Amino acid sequence: MPFVAGNHIQAFCSKCKADKEQVVLELWEGQVRKVRCTACDHEGTYKRPHHPDAAVPEKSKGAGGKEKKKKRGKAAQPKDEWKEALAGKENEEAKPYVPAETYKANERLDHAAFGIGVVMRVISATKMEVLFKEGRKIMVCGRKI
Ligand SMILES: [Zn+2]
Repeated sequence: MPFVAGNHIQAFCSKCKADKEQVVLELWEGQVRKVRCTACDHEGTYKRPHHPDAAVPEKSKGAGGKEKKKKRGKAAQPKDEWKEALAGKENEEAKPYVPAETYKANERLDHAAFGIGVVMRVISATKMEVLFKEGRKIMVCGRKI
């Protein structure tokens, strides 16, 4: 969003020695140049907030400008969910997947085609939901032969 003089932004105040709400006084080529601290009325050159969570102007010039971390706006991808589900279970043995076998929620299993999966929930005596790398699948379990 473009900055407009009079806007309130978070910036580092050299007098307060902290991130403070500051009023934009002057802009230069779309960049905030001069600000006034709402806490101490100190006017000065805009300085990026030191707190990482504070709002940072889109384009920040200067060599010290570090890339801000991109936030994941989208829902977790199946692959991430799968990774998370497997986290901490690396050393657990994965049971080979056999339809006749019974499994418990959170148990790891090893499917011939889909690879390593985690049992998300047991739906019924013969059905369970398993999270594989490519997504969730309903699998047969405890099948009587
Ligand atoms: Zn101040």
